[in-house]
Amino acid sequence: MERIKTKKDILEILCCPTCKSDLEIEIKKEEKDEIITGILICKKCKNNYKIEYGIPNLLPKKEKNDFNQ
Ligand SMILES: [Zn+2]
Repeated sequence: MERIKTKKDILEILCCPTCKSDLEIEIKKEEKDEIITGILICKKCKNNYKIEYGIPNLLPKKEKNDFNQ
C-alpha cells in the first residue's frame, strides 16, 4: 500500500472501503506535515480505520487482525 503524506492527500485519495463515503481524520501524531499516526472515520457508517507509520489500514472492519508487517 502506498505511503500517504498530508491530510489533504488522504482526504482526496481515500474513501471508506465499506460504503465509499468521505472520511474524516483524527491526527494523533504528525511530523513535518505528514501524518504518522491517526484514525480515519467514515462520516456515514462510522467505521474507523487506523493510520500507523504513515500507512492507512483501510481493510473492511474485522476485529483485531494484524495484517500489518
Ligand atoms: Zn463508510
